[in-house]
Amino acid sequence: MITSTTGPQPADFADVRATNLAVVLRFVREHAPCSRADIAASTGLNKATVSSLVADLIDRRLVRETGLTENRVGRPATMLVLDGSPYAAIGVEINVDTVSAVAVDLAGERLLTWRRSFSAGDSVNQGVAAVGAVVRRVVGRMAKEERQVLGLAVAVPGLVDVQGTVRIAPGLGWRDADLGGDLAKALRDPGFPIQVDNDANLAALAEQRFGAHAGASDLVYLTGELGVGAGVILDGRLRKGGRGFSGEIGHVQLDPEGPRCHCGRRGCLEAMAGIGAVLRRDPSPAETQVEIEEVVRLARAGDAGTLATLDSVGRHLGQGASLLASLLNPEVVILGGYYVPLAPWLLPAVHDELAGRVIAEEAGGCQVVASTLGHDAAALGGAARVLDSVDSGRLPGGLSRIP
Ligand SMILES: [Zn+2]
Repeated sequence: MITSTTGPQPADFADVRATNLAVVLRFVREHAPCSRADIAASTGLNKATVSSLVADLIDRRLVRETGLTENRVGRPATMLVLDGSPYAAIGVEINVDTVSAVAVDLAGERLLTWRRSFSAGDSVNQGVAAVGAVVRRVVGRMAKEERQVLGLAVAVPGLVDVQGTVRIAPGLGWRDADLGGDLAKALRDPGFPIQVDNDANLAALAEQRFGAHAGASDLVYLTGELGVGAGVILDGRLRKGGRGFSGEIGHVQLDPEGPRCHCGRRGCLEAMAGIGAVLRRDPSPAETQVEIEEVVRLARAGDAGTLATLDSVGRHLGQGASLLASLLNPEVVILGGYYVPLAPWLLPAVHDELAGRVIAEEAGGCQVVASTLGHDAAALGGAARVLDSVDSGRLPGGLSRIP
C-alpha cells in the first residue's frame, strides 16, 4: 500500500509492515464489522497478507473477531471489529485555572473525564509539578484497570513549537518550558510518548474525530477561552506552519484604535471579540463561568445593553471568521469554549459579517457553528492525537514501530 514516491526510499520491511497494519486498522475502524475479504478488496493488499496482518492485530488485541457472519452468497466470513479495550489514550488540557484530563480506549470510548482546579504557580516548575501530579493519577488509574497507555498529549493555551516546547503561554506566565521533558521526568520515563501542542490545534483534532462535523477534511476550531486561537485542519490534516505557530488569529488587528490587548497591541480580535469583550473587562478566570451564565440570563431576558454587546462581539467575531473563510475556505468554523453558551446571540451577527465580507458566494460554503464537545475539547483532542498516532502506524507492541 505504500505508494509515496517522496521521502527516503525504500522503507525497510518493518516500516512497510507497520504501515500496512495501520492501513488495516484504519479500515476496520471505519468499516467494522467487516471481513478479511472486504479489507483485501478495498485496500489492494492480497488475501494472504491481510490474513497475516489481521492475525498480528488480533495478537495485539487491537482487533477481534465477532461471531457474526456475512449473509451473502458464498462462504460465510468471520467479521472483524475494533478491540483495543486493554489500551488507553490520554489527553490533558491545561487552562488558566483548571486541568482537564480525558482517557479513551482505542475505539474512542470515554474511560475517564476529570477536571481539577489548578494554579500555574509562581514558576514554571511549580506549574509543571501540579500538572504532573494530575497526570500521574490518571496513569495510575489506567494501570489499575490493567490498560496500557498508548500515549499522552497535553494541550496548552499558548505558542508551542514543533519540538513541543511551550514558547509562551501568557495566561500561565510560562516561557520556554520543556513541558514534555519535565512531565517525562515527573512520570519517571513512563515508556509511552508524550506530546505537547497548542489547545486550539488539539481541539480541532477532537472535532475532526469526535465532533458533529467529524470527518470534515477542512475545518477550523476557534477557542473561546480567555484567549482566542484557531486550530486549522486542511485536506484532512492539522496545519501548524513552519514553527508550529499558525492559527494566532486572536492577535490579528481589527482596529488600530481599538481596546488594548493582553499582548500589548491595540484592537486585536481577542480584545474585540474575546471573553473580555463580552464581559467588558478583564475576566478573572475563577469567576468567568458564573459571569458568562449571568450574560446568558440577561440575554434571555432581552436586556438591551447585553444584546448590543453580544451583537458587537458577534460582528468582530464574524470579521475573524471572514478572514478564515477567505483565506482557507473551510467547510466549517467551530466556535468552542465560552462561545458555545453565547452562540444563539453571536451567530446571527457572525453570519451577517460572513455574507458581507467573503467574496465567494455563501461564504464559500463555510458554516459557523457552536461546538458540541464542551469545555474538554482540547483534552479530548489530546486523546485524539494519540489515536491518530496509532492509526498512522505507531502501534503498541513494539514489533513494527514507525519512529
Ligand atoms: Zn493581541
